[in-house]
Amino acid sequence: MIGLNLSDSEDPREERIKHTCDILLSSFGLKNLLLREKPPDRKITPLVIHYGDLSLSGIWLNYVSAGGIIIAILDSYAPVIKSQSRSTPRDEVNIKDLSTESYGGYYVNRNGRRVPFYFDSVSLRDDSGSHLYFLEDGVTPVASMKKEGEGVFIKLGLDIIRSTSFLLFEKHELIEGEKDDAKFSCNEYAFLLRELMAQGCQQLGIPLVRICAWPSNKPFAVCLCHDVDWISNWRLRLFEIKKQIFRSMQLGRERKFRKAISDFLTGLLFSPKRTDMRTSIKNTITFERSLGFNSTFFFFGNTRARSFLSGDRSYVTAREASLLEHLSNLSIEIGLHGSYASYIDGPMLAAEKKALEFSGIPARGIRQHCQRFDAGETWKAQEFAGFEYDATRMDCAFCFPFEVFHSKKNPEKGRIVEIPLSLMDESMTRYPNPSILIDKRRKFLEEAKKLTDAVNSYSGVLVPLWHPFEKYRGCLSGYHEILRFISTFSPYVTTCSGLLDWWQRRSSVLVHCQRQDNGAFAVKLCATEDISNLCFAIGNLKETSRISGPLKPRLDNRPGDVYFEIATLKKGEEVLMEIGL
Ligand SMILES: [Zn+2]
Repeated sequence: MIGLNLSDSEDPREERIKHTCDILLSSFGLKNLLLREKPPDRKITPLVIHYGDLSLSGIWLNYVSAGGIIIAILDSYAPVIKSQSRSTPRDEVNIKDLSTESYGGYYVNRNGRRVPFYFDSVSLRDDSGSHLYFLEDGVTPVASMKKEGEGVFIKLGLDIIRSTSFLLFEKHELIEGEKDDAKFSCNEYAFLLRELMAQGCQQLGIPLVRICAWPSNKPFAVCLCHDVDWISNWRLRLFEIKKQIFRSMQLGRERKFRKAISDFLTGLLFSPKRTDMRTSIKNTITFERSLGFNSTFFFFGNTRARSFLSGDRSYVTAREASLLEHLSNLSIEIGLHGSYASYIDGPMLAAEKKALEFSGIPARGIRQHCQRFDAGETWKAQEFAGFEYDATRMDCAFCFPFEVFHSKKNPEKGRIVEIPLSLMDESMTRYPNPSILIDKRRKFLEEAKKLTDAVNSYSGVLVPLWHPFEKYRGCLSGYHEILRFISTFSPYVTTCSGLLDWWQRRSSVLVHCQRQDNGAFAVKLCATEDISNLCFAIGNLKETSRISGPLKPRLDNRPGDVYFEIATLKKGEEVLMEIGL
């Protein structure tokens, strides 16, 4: 357990700061405990995150010099809080804050990668501790570490907590240009925090226990998603012709007449040969099954008359209900693909959910059509309709599921979990013209492979979205190629619901690592829900460390780390290990 202390004991953002801190810690399975002005017992809580300014008051300095570790993280908003009266309501992330003058910049991580951060930073050039991390200029230190008495005092001059909260819970459109850079930024902040914790613990010879992200320590997780916007091929064809006319007219206006005609003809000639949608869906599943994948199908939820931008009323007729049953019998998950206008309309989403569940199959998750999303409204509407997770956002900068915090209107903790989307087929399948398609296909596959490598390096979750039919020739074989590549890593394969269940069970695990009077460490794991194949790692070990307990180490140990797997940890049971020095 890690302590969290806020400079301002009456900080109105308290709950949100704790929640954001928990999200960062969740990537290695730890939690924080909010402290109330008083330092904790060092034996039980040897490490405290202090969020505020980078100086400590007397009692906290005593905690450090007596043998505790404090990581002080800069709160870039603290000066604003201080200057405002407590009675004024505050909208924490002020849009003006993100104008260029206070947009943070980049710091350099351990692997030399530039990582963006937002809001102001503080240089630790004059700090007497050893410098750990630098801004991209290579000379401005932003993290330092110093031994104080028996303990360690670490300072971080980057506001990784507010940056995380901003990237996950605020609209991201303002910094469109930075979007590609921002990918995985929150994972980088979590890594940075873990590194600082590891360095502090290493100084004092404290082992660091962390929970592996996935069952049996699989390298990463994969949830395949499909949007089913259309069931009827002829309706889809009409829609495509309409869309193609607009596209060709646009090309014509740009005087690209040849392209306009070739696009139009390719589209027109290809779609009649297309396999019907039910068969396409079944073929997709057969292929996925052959590689051991399972998937989630989001069915379009139009309860109103169709418009140009909407899809089929795909599940309303009895025939579609039997398709849903067929899929459900195959353990395929069914979710709702919310209609175009539904993203800010709770009652509309509730009606669409009810219509989809008409056949008796529950829809726990939702993906909004056309990536329609408003961070202030959409999660609320989805919670109103009773969904447990959303899988719409591709701009979260994080590759782990996280529980939502409504930060703008009625700031409060929500119930819905966001499962961030990693990639979608749209950028490849938009081009009917084969010569463009070939080129786009190649680029897309390269990007998909790079993305898989990145998710693998963060042990995160990869969530690809694919429309389960051959839009143009070559699209489906592209999908197959991506799946073959992913399966070479032997990842943890599940549906979105399966992922949610796993993540919630894993979040119920508590880790305690306590120093005994004889100098040894007692490690205790317990959970409030049953969980199987839970893996954990004990890191920061010395060569002389001996671990005893009911579990045998796994074979995939890395230097300094020893891995264990618990076949089943029952609710309320405890696993005890001892680390002797
Ligand atoms: Zn759609």
